[in-house]
Amino acid sequence: STDGSTKMQKTLAIIKPDGLLGNYTDDIKRTILEYGFNIVKEKIVQLDDATVKRFYAEHSSKSFFSNLVKYMTSGPVLIMILEKNNAIADWRALMGPTDASNAKITHPHSIRAKCGLDTEKNCVHGSDSPKSAQREILFFFKELSADVITEHDEL
Ligand code: ADP
Ligand code: MG
Repeated sequence: STDGSTKMQKTLAIIKPDGLLGNYTDDIKRTILEYGFNIVKEKIVQLDDATVKRFYAEHSSKSFFSNLVKYMTSGPVLIMILEKNNAIADWRALMGPTDASNAKITHPHSIRAKCGLDTEKNCVHGSDSPKSAQREILFFFKELSADVITEHDEL
């Protein structure tokens, strides 16, 4: 970076309605900090249908899309920007696989194993690539400029 500071990779994390309403937030945030992430920004939001549809546009043709919209609007979510070296992959690993019921067997220490229920209600979201991390961070934190997030950062 131009100012000589070391910028770390950022990713977007969401504690979904089942995580927030199930009182898993403190446990999840403690785990996030234990694993060396900084929580750069956070906000609690009640998402509406249109916002979820735009956020998850890549899944619009999937059979589960309407249920996903219902799920993600069923209560407030906690949206966070997490930062550390290799944040994107490390947060995905800490979350565990999409299917929380399977995660309980294959990744019992993952967040989805501990807080999730099934392939839909899996309590957390994480960006899946540098490109989606940039899109998702700007989607929810429009006040940030794109180059603050990536241009000069390690992708
Ligand atoms: P991930 O969140 O692990 O990146 P996807 O991007 O494939 O998973 O899916 C986005 C979200 O849609 C999942 O986290 C989950 O809440 C929901 N979802 C995914 N697959 C299914 C499915 N087969 N049935 C119901 N909901 C699903
Ligand atoms: Mg995904």
